[in-house]
Amino acid sequence: MGSGNDHIQHVAHHTLGGYRFCPHCRTALIISEQEGVPRPACPACGFIHYNNPVPAAGAIIVRTGQILFVKRKYEPRIGLWSLPAGFMEHTESPEECVIRELQEETGLFGAVKNLVGVYAAGDDPRSRVVLIIYHMEVFGGEERPGDDAAELGYFPPGNFPPFAWNSHHRALGDFFARHAGGVT
Ligand SMILES: [Zn+2]
Repeated sequence: MGSGNDHIQHVAHHTLGGYRFCPHCRTALIISEQEGVPRPACPACGFIHYNNPVPAAGAIIVRTGQILFVKRKYEPRIGLWSLPAGFMEHTESPEECVIRELQEETGLFGAVKNLVGVYAAGDDPRSRVVLIIYHMEVFGGEERPGDDAAELGYFPPGNFPPFAWNSHHRALGDFFARHAGGVT
């Protein structure tokens, strides 16, 4: 009992991915070792929760040398800034996801120009994330914050706002390293 037991409970909670019961049959999940990896599993029906990272896609939009950011309206990281980005729906491609997220959060219609990079992100409390960042161009729409964006802003390199997510910072670093001669 005491703090040692609390620690075990804490580790078990994270290993379970936050889940305690089988989503199929409501039996209490146990930790089962699968090929050396502890996974939440149902002893009654055989369900295994793999707890994979969730794919997300985000956009780098450049206007007169400045980058488009959105200010987060909700937790986690409320009030901090990110690239327009969001989680992929089950039926979407990454390109469809980033086009939809851009439209929802900024009102802008965009098209994918290039893949900037793919990033493993561990700083989102909701899930580990595989973040796919695209350089996009805007061809229409009316700029206004929407969905989980409270505010929009364009910021120049060297004067970026406080980042919600480290992976977005890394993606912009890669983007500017590749476009050292300037971006449009
Ligand atoms: Zn079950």
